[in-house]
Amino acid sequence: MKILEPATEGTLAELPEAEIEDVERAIARAKAAFPGWRAVTPGDRAALMRRLADAIADQRDELATLEARNVGKPIADARGEMGAVVDLFHYMAAAPERLFGKTIPVAGGVDMTFREPLGVVGLITPWNYPLWLASTKVAPALAAGNTMVLKPAELTPLTALELERIALDAGIPEGVLNVVVGKGRVVGERMVQHPDVAKIAFTGSTEVGKRIGQLASASIKRVTLELGGKSANVIFADADLEQAALSAPLAVFGNAGQDCCARSRILVERPALDRFMEVFEKAVTALRVGDPLDEQTQMGPLISADQRQTVASYVEDGAPVAFRGSAPQGRGYWFPPTVLCPVSNDERVTREEVFGPVAAVIPFEDEEEAVRIANDTVYGLSGSIWTRDGARALRVARAIQTGTISINSNTSVRVTTPFGGFKQSGLGRELGPHALEHYTELKNVYMATG
Ligand code: NAD
Repeated sequence: MKILEPATEGTLAELPEAEIEDVERAIARAKAAFPGWRAVTPGDRAALMRRLADAIADQRDELATLEARNVGKPIADARGEMGAVVDLFHYMAAAPERLFGKTIPVAGGVDMTFREPLGVVGLITPWNYPLWLASTKVAPALAAGNTMVLKPAELTPLTALELERIALDAGIPEGVLNVVVGKGRVVGERMVQHPDVAKIAFTGSTEVGKRIGQLASASIKRVTLELGGKSANVIFADADLEQAALSAPLAVFGNAGQDCCARSRILVERPALDRFMEVFEKAVTALRVGDPLDEQTQMGPLISADQRQTVASYVEDGAPVAFRGSAPQGRGYWFPPTVLCPVSNDERVTREEVFGPVAAVIPFEDEEEAVRIANDTVYGLSGSIWTRDGARALRVARAIQTGTISINSNTSVRVTTPFGGFKQSGLGRELGPHALEHYTELKNVYMATG
């Protein structure tokens, strides 16, 4: 299969496409490696993970360049993601020696709990943050003593293959991490249905997440799902409007809007609308859209021609275009950052995940209406609230049905804090201390002492 470079439409690599037999072999390798990996002492497993983190750090620049070229994301962003990957492996390296159980008071003996690995886990990832999203699964899976098969997205498999190589070089035993590059409908579905795979960790669209949930239910396979979003950026009139408006562009146009946490519904309290739009427009038109390998670039192209067509269709629906940023002409899947205003929450563009640089501004009258609109969606992944009123900030943060929300900030993801969705945005949590629960089973042991 041809791997393309979205900024040039040129071919970056050609790879053989895995078929059913290849994924069967990968699962068999992971199964064979499980008893050995599980038996590695916690201290040794931690040491191997720290070596892996250091090896990734050593190759950070090469990995960032590969990711930037394959996804079309700005090199500065890609380098930041590689830094987060290193931090994540270090963070999870602390886990093998801290998978604590409990003792529970009972009559006649001692009761204790253990966290045990699941076995072979299947990891399926999308194309927007390839190595980061693979690492959010590989790191806790390794720490807990599982072996794994990782299937990266067809469009962006290159850094996953590099991770497999780096892991082997760092001393992670053969068969523990197996990467298979193939189609979701073929090798992905086989992983979900395979009797030797104990769990699927999936990041991708809600549509595919539902299919995975259905298929996995046949064998009560464990599943964690990180799915789509339609997050709200709620701006009250008493906010620091300057700061809210200056940070709003990258809150939705970061990664060219191909971000599950994109705050693509910007809710603005009516008295602040004109001032907000004035500063927002300046910031959007100043965004540097262009060559992903240029250090100054803030937004690159979309991932593919298909994606560009899909994104364009939302603008063609006809909501008023308030303004647009720039985009290069010529080769590459470019699309200018586009702001629609005013938009109601009942349009296709405000109900569906666009996954491209299109933001819809929805005016609101008061706090109650803001919360109602923010919650009027099937999704619940991320979001922001901008206000100087601390009590209101917390009240609204508690009222919005979402897995993660920021007050006076547009960040969503940290290595050390839980991340995941409410409603149709997902099931389970990644990152932070909660991630390991999803890569272990809880065993209860009772010993009679009478
Ligand atoms: P996608 O669902 O099309 O594909 C994701 C992965 O699933 C790919 O590896 C694909 O090959 C595989 N796949 C496809 N069909 C499959 C099937 N039937 N069985 C098994 N595997 C299958 O998603 P995408 O287009 O690559 O990524 C964009 C989506 O990912 C967006 O909806 C975005 O919101 C979501 N996403 C969510 C998060 C999060 O953490 N919640 C993060 C990033 C992206």
